[in-house]
Amino acid sequence: MASFQKTEAGRHLSMVVRDAYTRLHARAAEGAFVVWIAINVPAEIFAGFDNVVYGVPESHAAVNAAKGIGALQCEKAERIGYSMDLCSYARIDIGCVSDNFKDSPTFGLPKPHLLVSNTNNCSLLAKWFDVHHREMGIPHFIIDVPFCYAPQKTGDRDYIVAQFHELIRVIETMSGQRCDMEKVRQAVSLTDEGIGWWKRFLGFAEHRPSGITAFDSFVQMAPFLIARGTKQFVAHYRLLAEETARRVASGDFPVPGEQYRLFWDNIAPWHQLRDMSETLEEKGANIVGATYTSCIGGIEGSFDHFPYGGGDPLAHLARTQNAYVCPHGMALRTAAMADAVKRLNIDGIVFAGNRSCKPYSITQFGQQQKMAGVFGASSVMIDVDHADVRKYSRENTFTRLDALIENIDMKRRCG
Ligand code: SF4
Repeated sequence: MASFQKTEAGRHLSMVVRDAYTRLHARAAEGAFVVWIAINVPAEIFAGFDNVVYGVPESHAAVNAAKGIGALQCEKAERIGYSMDLCSYARIDIGCVSDNFKDSPTFGLPKPHLLVSNTNNCSLLAKWFDVHHREMGIPHFIIDVPFCYAPQKTGDRDYIVAQFHELIRVIETMSGQRCDMEKVRQAVSLTDEGIGWWKRFLGFAEHRPSGITAFDSFVQMAPFLIARGTKQFVAHYRLLAEETARRVASGDFPVPGEQYRLFWDNIAPWHQLRDMSETLEEKGANIVGATYTSCIGGIEGSFDHFPYGGGDPLAHLARTQNAYVCPHGMALRTAAMADAVKRLNIDGIVFAGNRSCKPYSITQFGQQQKMAGVFGASSVMIDVDHADVRKYSRENTFTRLDALIENIDMKRRCG
């Protein structure tokens, strides 16, 4: 992470993000139909239209947090009555909209014609987008995704596919454009190819010392959120995987003195990436993997790539709605984490309890007990809000991380 800006993939990432926002604003100004989507809404669908573009409020909120202005934007939402207990992404976004994106590092998002959320991650998202629906008077389409306790049932998949068809019909009616399913298929193929490279990149965490840190993977998620289904998406993740392979082959590791291999559970602490990675590196510790990034491209918590076989693209997009952690039941979450801990040779787990994101955090105490009881894993629970620095204590966090390292040392001494 410390060397992120010096890598070719780091510089390329900055360009991808800059391009995505520049293009979004330019095309909106030229009259494109603009959709605001939740991160789990499959953006590949919009590639089927000639002139539909999308913005992702959650991703924009993360950029604000990473740039150190998350709290500033949250306070704007709090001043107009939103509770500090609400998700900080929602507060950042509502705060940004309240003053027309005044402080946004990306000049905000262009005004939407349609809002599309889903119930996949959490019900708060639908309520959050409903705020914009009411305030801006813009239609809001909600995709209902069944909760995920086990492999997806065919009936659930069909139910989601039917809603994708309905979404396409709504956009066709509102925008006057036709959706070309062949273009959607091409976009799904490109995403699939890029995901293959992403998984290769994540796979370098299996090396000892690890070829990556989870902090690198957090930062490198951005194209998955804003550039899926494009050639640029494939090119970026290929560059990232190939450059990482070269660095590993030449013995260039992010934490060369790696003594403790840790695993992160929950959303990235956007406002602490640099400090946390550098401080841990000084202690010889590396957070080598995270549930937040390893779930991308798999299904039901699996670390492995769930490939697109070339069939109905909407069926594949519906099948992969089960990729993300928040909708998973306890059994899936525990199995997924146990697999990652084994695969990555993890010494300790950092459960980042996040009061902003209750769906991610609600099972963590039970999961911590299971990982200790069944797998004997050392772990610690820390308090981190992903985007609101006011709910973070550096002192408390590192006191607990130091305790985790001591616990790992003690276990090693006792054999
Ligand atoms: S509460 Fe969690 S899952 Fe829901 S929008 Fe916020 S960060 Fe996403």
